[in-house]
Amino acid sequence: MTTIRVGHLYPDYLNIYADRGNIAVLARRTAWRGHELVVTALGMGHPIVPGEHDLYYVGGGQDREQLLVAADLATKRDALQNAVDGGAAALAVCGGYQLLGRGYRGFHGEDMPGIGLLPLETVAGESRLIGDVLIECELEPGEKHTLAGFENHAGRTRLDPVAEPLGRVLAGFGNDGESGFEGCRAGRVVGTYLHGPLLPRNAWLADWLLAQALAHRLGTEPPRLEPLPDELERQAHAVSAGRARSRGGRR
Ligand code: GLN
Repeated sequence: MTTIRVGHLYPDYLNIYADRGNIAVLARRTAWRGHELVVTALGMGHPIVPGEHDLYYVGGGQDREQLLVAADLATKRDALQNAVDGGAAALAVCGGYQLLGRGYRGFHGEDMPGIGLLPLETVAGESRLIGDVLIECELEPGEKHTLAGFENHAGRTRLDPVAEPLGRVLAGFGNDGESGFEGCRAGRVVGTYLHGPLLPRNAWLADWLLAQALAHRLGTEPPRLEPLPDELERQAHAVSAGRARSRGGRR
């Protein structure tokens, strides 16, 4: 039995839209494979020790909550960069995604520092980009999957030209409503606007993250995880994808 160690950043602040559901999915899918997932809350002033966690999770939050954590997160920047350079994985959703970039200018013009783990910047626009969204991803060459979710953000995220998006928008807005890209991926670090929550209806991404976390834990290549009978998860994905498709493509 292997223990996967998750560091959950600011669960008391960045927890909008059922972020706990994402953690619950990671825990159950780990247990169903005979392993164990231990989650540690990493809050204000809590030091990050590179190597101590296999997977970091940062949830979503409104500008107000982001403003409360941004300065503290900046003090964790070097440690988090070292952790990721050492092979730890990360998933950041919405407000957390924005703060993994270089910075976020909120709706009222507040400049919040980001930690630059992802090559992108975000500025809030006048309107909110809201609705069901469907994207196509290819995290491993030749393995295409769709991610279905829900987005609700004022932030417009621009990727640097060298950045790898998480996926291509099939329906919905994505990073900025214009580029056709959604999210960003840098090695084992993934950021996305999709919540709602994300992992219960996109089990393949939960397993991809767990495989990356296990690779960090074991010092191996990401293992192939035993498939699970994901009938309900597939149905949830199909309902959510159908809702996004009925919006009629990219916005
Ligand atoms: N405050 C950010 C925005 O509006 C993120 C919102 C969220 O996490 N839902 O863009």
